[in-house]
Amino acid sequence: MTTATATSPLDAALDRAARITPRLAELADPIDRGEADPARAYDLVRASGLLAAMIPADRGGLGLDFADYTRLLAELARANGAVALGYNMHNVAIGSLFEADADALGAAGSTFRDRVIDRVIDHGAMFASAASEPATGARLRGIATVYRRDDDDRFVLDGHKSFVSLSGVADHYVVTARPHDDDSGVEVSHFVVDADDPGVTFSTEWAGTALRGTSTAQMFLSDTVIDADRLFLGVEGMSLFKAVREPHWMAAGYLGAYLGLAEAIVEFAAARIGADERRRSSDADIARLGAMGVDLQAARALTLVAARGVARNRSHQDTNATVYAAKHHLGETTQKLAAQAVSLVGSAAMAADGPMQRLLREVQFCSIMPAKPADCLSYVGRGLLGVNMFDVSNHSW
Ligand SMILES: Cc1cc2nc3c(=O)[nH]c(=O)nc-3n(C[C@H](O)[C@H](O)[C@H](O)COP(=O)(O)OP(=O)(O)OC[C@H]3O[C@@H](n4cnc5c(N)ncnc54)[C@H](O)[C@@H]3O)c2cc1C
Repeated sequence: MTTATATSPLDAALDRAARITPRLAELADPIDRGEADPARAYDLVRASGLLAAMIPADRGGLGLDFADYTRLLAELARANGAVALGYNMHNVAIGSLFEADADALGAAGSTFRDRVIDRVIDHGAMFASAASEPATGARLRGIATVYRRDDDDRFVLDGHKSFVSLSGVADHYVVTARPHDDDSGVEVSHFVVDADDPGVTFSTEWAGTALRGTSTAQMFLSDTVIDADRLFLGVEGMSLFKAVREPHWMAAGYLGAYLGLAEAIVEFAAARIGADERRRSSDADIARLGAMGVDLQAARALTLVAARGVARNRSHQDTNATVYAAKHHLGETTQKLAAQAVSLVGSAAMAADGPMQRLLREVQFCSIMPAKPADCLSYVGRGLLGVNMFDVSNHSW
């Protein structure tokens, strides 16, 4: 008699990831060089079913929590960091919907959540997150994108988003905006805007030194009219307060992506040293590789402690402090590991046809994407001083 083994949600998700990571890895350098369209990688992600990662199992999704999600993202990023970062923005856009108690959402909130589930499960739709602006970066306070209501009670949006991953790839864009007649800075809401809504345009893709695979462009909204039911969860003015209480998606959704890049760097160094008979028996080289392994393990441990903390004890100041600490530590460690790999491996690390030159460029972005290093340290430091970090005035968001 055989006994059926229950598959955990994480195992099921990793199984799906394993079916696409070999191809994602092959596409990483061609996409980075502009020789392959990132859409090819996102077609694989769509086909894998991983867009439903955060949707509860009883609604047809994979039912991951934030800890499982972080590990899934690391697996994807080991293969293709840019695509993992792009995929993360889909989950940043909708992940929080499935953490909240569904019964406490109210009628408008439940309808909104059901529609998102329907779009992802039944239509394979991909969401993106359009928050950052030229004058404010990723901060919610002081944004220039505004909304007003028209005579039919619909929303009319005007604004400019500076960096939107998945531009031209995603079906729906979760856009932040403030009321046109409110300068308080704290009244920020999220709206779902479609790529083909009136007045929506995108710039050509951002020409950065890395992460072409995120498919990032600027987004413009000009007199964009959307129905009232596109207000996120049917609630106005909650975005900043939500980011303060539960910052994990905005501040650390992509922890797993940078963890995966760190793993890829250490694996690259180990493979190179391992392939060289002289160096694999050098005590000095073994110790340098070992030091990289120690740093990686410490970063992985803190990252997973933070991610598990979110899964078990969300909306808690100690949890949030660990999230910010992990974001800071992982950013520093990943960049340090990249420098160590170059120094240990030598010229082979800088070969244009090898992965390390790309990894070296990609990891720099951990300190550019929120929460920035100074903001992470500020959060942890203020927490140690007993400052109330649930008070929005103590935040730079
Ligand atoms: C490849 C890539 C993909 C991205 N994808 C997305 C995405 O999908 N969605 C998204 O929303 N964002 C995205 N971003 C944006 C990212 O999250 C950051 O917002 C952006 O990179 C920050 O850029 P910066 O460091 O130049 O700006 P920042 O240094 O954050 O500053 C931007 C502006 O904010 C102002 N500013 C700085 N500090 C303060 C302060 N303390 N108080 C008030 N104002 C201040 C300054 O005037 C400054 O010019 C992406 C970025 C990249 C590079």
